[in-house]
Amino acid sequence: MKRRFISVPVVLLILFAYLSCANIPQTESDLNVYLDDLGEKYEAVCVEMGTQNWNLYSKEAEADQDGPKLKYAELLLDPKHMKVVDNGLARIDREENPRLYRRLFVWKNVLTAARVDMDENVFRMENQLEQEVNEYTHDVDGKPVLHNELRQVLSNKIKDALELEARYEAYSDEMQKAFEPRVLELMKLRNEKARGSGFKDYGEMCLFMTELLADESKWFYDVIDFIEEKTLEPFKELVEKGSMKTGKEVSLENIREIVYSMTEDLPAHVGYPTEKALDLAKKTAANIGFDIDALPIRLVEKALPYGGLNLAIHIPSDIRILVRPNSGRVGLFLHEFGHGLEAVFNQTPEPIFKNYEWCLGASTPSYEEGMANVMERFADHDKWQVMFNKKSKARAEKEKDNQNLLSPYTIRSTIVEFLFEFELYRNLDRDPEDVAKDLYKKWLFIDGESHPQKYWATSIFPVAYPCYRQSYFIADILAWQVHEFLKDKFGDDYLFNSQVGEWLIEHLFKKGHDLPWMDRIEGSIGQKLDIAGYLASFGID
Ligand SMILES: [Zn+2]
Repeated sequence: MKRRFISVPVVLLILFAYLSCANIPQTESDLNVYLDDLGEKYEAVCVEMGTQNWNLYSKEAEADQDGPKLKYAELLLDPKHMKVVDNGLARIDREENPRLYRRLFVWKNVLTAARVDMDENVFRMENQLEQEVNEYTHDVDGKPVLHNELRQVLSNKIKDALELEARYEAYSDEMQKAFEPRVLELMKLRNEKARGSGFKDYGEMCLFMTELLADESKWFYDVIDFIEEKTLEPFKELVEKGSMKTGKEVSLENIREIVYSMTEDLPAHVGYPTEKALDLAKKTAANIGFDIDALPIRLVEKALPYGGLNLAIHIPSDIRILVRPNSGRVGLFLHEFGHGLEAVFNQTPEPIFKNYEWCLGASTPSYEEGMANVMERFADHDKWQVMFNKKSKARAEKEKDNQNLLSPYTIRSTIVEFLFEFELYRNLDRDPEDVAKDLYKKWLFIDGESHPQKYWATSIFPVAYPCYRQSYFIADILAWQVHEFLKDKFGDDYLFNSQVGEWLIEHLFKKGHDLPWMDRIEGSIGQKLDIAGYLASFGID
């Protein structure tokens, strides 16, 4: 009889398989314990990351963003976690155990995105650029001026509009030249890594990780196509009329002037004093039941490359907001309160569901910006404007008419603004100038020398919040729809009803990333995101 023979490599393979199997949690409860432990470690790094980002922008202490990123890399790039998650996803039944399945699904996204964002070459370059763009100053007559404050500072000095524009452009050109090649280099690195994980490019990866695209849904592209089609004729008509009225042929340089020529002049109005903006914002929040001062939300004024910035250091107990000094806009304060409120009322125990924003895949910015816009929108309400902003009814109505009239142009322009970055990721070997011009030709049917994306690399967004700006657009739709719902449920005076705050907590704020964001919306207001309804609110049918 022949002796059965098992070769040494086969023995090793079996041994290895046994050992690795032994290390992988097999039962649901073991899996939960494993993910609890991973979540705890993850949250500890989130707190450090938030603190370092706070230091960078508040300048309260020396910032070290590389430190926590190195810790993320060590934690999230450990191949064992992906193995456990893949194994769990293959075994756990989505219907039977939806929460554990969702935990695994979100971890899968976070671990996948970490292969790109937590790559040491990527994050070191990103952190370096974020710091440089944040601190970049122009020399204006011997004084350092932050880029975001440049226009304001120049307009205080220069009264002639053409001269002001020329000076502004000269400074911006210089900054664009300093950053464009380096931002492109960072983008190429991100693309290379994303392609290594099976995505077409980094932009596509971001859409998947923020639940705008899924294997079974191309929601984002469908929405864009739908809006393209709906706004096409109204846009053409608007430009045609504007062109006739001004007697000018439309180009990239004058399209704004041409479409704005169709708007009506507004009766004069002096708004609320800017120094009252913060108090007014708190009052607006109090009217629906939120006592902002009683919540763990800290607010600091600081020069910033953003309008405002909400940093959730520890959710739900330590939330901090930075706003630019004298920003004076109630809507801006309310927007940041919205981010803060969502974080302080978050009740999900698992850190991976708390919407920490530092790891792509762990939050959905369309929803997060949506919550901020829900709060911001209270100050857009007609009654608010009449009561707190002393706006005449006639003016409020005319503003709305103008907004509706311009909407085919503003909506299409906004779409070009956020598509531009996605197009760049698709075409990193092309001149960004050509990429932008092609987009304007496709969406606004115009040519010209100059285009509004000319200074794209002077913005902090492509570096620190890549492929993010569509979130604001989607957030606007979401906020419109939530306000329509609130009006139906609580009546026309809902902005003075303290039950509204309770409803927001219960149905929108306390939920975390444990449900896909579109399901959270549908579960709360009983409807899917209503794009057609949103367009109809501008008179686009
Ligand atoms: Zn925001």
